[in-house]
Amino acid sequence: MRAAILEDRRKLVIRNVPEPVLDKDEVLIKVQYCGICGSDLHVFLEGLRTSLGHEYSGDIVETGKGVEGLEIGDPVVVKPRGCEECYWCKRGEIGLCDKLFLRTTGRNVGAFATYVKAKFDQILKLSDELTHEQGAIIEPTSVALHAVNMSGMKIGDVVAVLGLGPIGQLVARLAKLNAKAVYATETSQTRIELANNVADEVINPKVTDPVDRILELTNDRGADIVFECAGKEETTQDSIAVARKRGTIVIPGMCFEAVETSFIDIVLKELIIKGSLNKNMAEFVSASEIIKKGIIDVNPLLTVKFPLEEIDKAFDKALKGEGGKILVKP
Ligand SMILES: [Zn+2]
Ligand SMILES: [Zn+2]
Repeated sequence: MRAAILEDRRKLVIRNVPEPVLDKDEVLIKVQYCGICGSDLHVFLEGLRTSLGHEYSGDIVETGKGVEGLEIGDPVVVKPRGCEECYWCKRGEIGLCDKLFLRTTGRNVGAFATYVKAKFDQILKLSDELTHEQGAIIEPTSVALHAVNMSGMKIGDVVAVLGLGPIGQLVARLAKLNAKAVYATETSQTRIELANNVADEVINPKVTDPVDRILELTNDRGADIVFECAGKEETTQDSIAVARKRGTIVIPGMCFEAVETSFIDIVLKELIIKGSLNKNMAEFVSASEIIKKGIIDVNPLLTVKFPLEEIDKAFDKALKGEGGKILVKP
């Protein structure tokens, strides 16, 4: 089968690799779409020895002898799974698994490949109402849902979303379900357009100072809840400036640089700051229901697709920070 292998920093190549061999409790899935995650971009840029591609959907093409309740041809996604051995997995907190970034499939093959295999009890069948494209965005939607759940936001809160990449877009859509207003910041024109019907106002920091504008929109109080979704130093600093007193900042964005900030602002405003890394099983299942029922519309985020052979172009595009979720079709 064909698979994208990261051989070095920024060096993704398509290779022929052996097909996965099934245990009796496993199924073989022909991958239909696999989205590029922000975490994949970090792996790509750093050349890390871990598998790429975890946001995928596909169809079952083979089942092990012990598999029950699934048939060849079923459209599916795979539910999150931890190592099942660490302290956090044993507590059921798979999103905090100690081996989260260490799991490999031996040859660095993830779901940017013709086939993947999975344990049958990890499978979530896609109902007829869900397309394969929508299936591939369930995982990022569950990550966004986790961030919103972490925030403890209440009906009628004013929300700021800093950065409208795929996670920011999904956070804005989910937050909008309960918020009095959602104010977002973003510099890419395509991403601003994707959020125009979602956010009450999208501020372009290249044109307008986002801190001044959000304070102006909130009678100088600031937002009740702030989501830092860009993973950048400036937006992390801004998140402290735009939060109201005793407001909550949730950070799903991954900023690997040191962020210079004045901690006295956190004390003076009695801020609550929370990191948000992953999701749990319940959030994954909820995310699929939310998309299936059309509670949020993810379709505008799913328009950019590349064949596996052009995966380097897909990663280049993802690195540019434009548009919605980028899907690769093996
Ligand atoms: Zn992801
Ligand atoms: Zn674990």
